[in-house]
Amino acid sequence: MIHFKQLAQEYKTPLYVYDFDYMAKQYEALKEAFRGRKSILAYAVKSNSNLSVVQHFAKMGSGADCVSIGEVRRAFLAGVPAYRIIFSGVGKSDDEIREAIERDILYINVESEAELGRVELIAQELGRVSRISVRVNPNIDPKTHPYISTGLHDNKFGVDLESAKRIYIKAKNSPHLDPVGIHFHIGSQLTELDPIRESAEIVADMVRSLQAIEIELKFFDIGGGLGVVYNNETTIKPYDYAQAILGTLTGLDMTIICEPGRFLTANAGYFLTKVLYEKKNGSKRFVVVDGAMNDLIRPSLYKAYHKIEAISESKTELSEADVVGPVCESGDFLAKNYLLPTLEHNDLLVVHSAGAYGFGMGSNYNTRGRSAEIAIEGGKARLIRKRETFEDIIALETEFLQKS
Ligand SMILES: *Cc1c(COP(=O)(O)O)cnc(C)c1O
Repeated sequence: MIHFKQLAQEYKTPLYVYDFDYMAKQYEALKEAFRGRKSILAYAVKSNSNLSVVQHFAKMGSGADCVSIGEVRRAFLAGVPAYRIIFSGVGKSDDEIREAIERDILYINVESEAELGRVELIAQELGRVSRISVRVNPNIDPKTHPYISTGLHDNKFGVDLESAKRIYIKAKNSPHLDPVGIHFHIGSQLTELDPIRESAEIVADMVRSLQAIEIELKFFDIGGGLGVVYNNETTIKPYDYAQAILGTLTGLDMTIICEPGRFLTANAGYFLTKVLYEKKNGSKRFVVVDGAMNDLIRPSLYKAYHKIEAISESKTELSEADVVGPVCESGDFLAKNYLLPTLEHNDLLVVHSAGAYGFGMGSNYNTRGRSAEIAIEGGKARLIRKRETFEDIIALETEFLQKS
């Protein structure tokens, strides 16, 4: 039971609230599913990159899946050991590759032949050997939203099987590269098991064909993507997920790396926003709130559904309303045609399932400061990020003001 009203009073709105105990429960459930196998859960930092969140998982033994050197630095700061950090992503700058090699992380997930070339060159310059894994694009339709589908040849991610093989051979023959893993990640918010199983089969076969040419990989990296309930979705159970993967690995003794993001954080998070006022344009009802697309962009970007709970004394009948923010875009909404009672100034709305891809996708658009973030652990609340002030927003610009 989280006391949203008290939190909103104490910390003001808009506000992000994360249930750390729920995150721990999700972590343990997934870890348990892979019991008896060597496995590492590498938390996908991009889903919620607050240092206290990353530290929370690190304390449970989690690794970190990072998609920029900034995320790698966050993982180190939060106490994730280098040997559990992975660096993925379709475009890495030379500086990022250099730092990842210097920091001696578990491996770099390579996503193209050209990238392998850069990694090799930089490792050579540093006089080091870089551990790599290759992200394979198995060309499987994950049946999720097109913006979060990544495992089709139409998507920019990974390499096809033919290219992957060439990359492994090149890596094996290079004194500066050590191919240790294979990776796939076909999309996010996956609710069907078949595409995952099919992808794992394709990738496991690839492992076997590499064995035949004496390339022995240690890590079978299954990516993330496990879906969660936002509305009424049927989701995949951790046990079934693990069994489906393990079923493809007969005869292979590999450590499984899983990179969950949303599964750990989405339903641990709540976005709190206050009603400013109601208005009508003709017969269309709008509830104008103090939170906006710059705080939570998922409804605007993906037409994502988030459950909204009104904390109000109002006993009026429900009617449909669009919940909209102050940002100057028609795409600025948290919900459309949502059934809500008549609301008063300062009534509180709790937007559920906001723990993943919420705060992190935020921006300062319209010179709006980012929300504060709160952790709830063992019934106690603590601030884990201050609300951004106007001064924070302009700090990097003020020195350039022309004095006349
Ligand atoms: C985004 C991402 C993840 C996490 O995805 P979720 O859907 O949040 O679990 C894992 N691995 C890679 C490579 C990613 O890009």
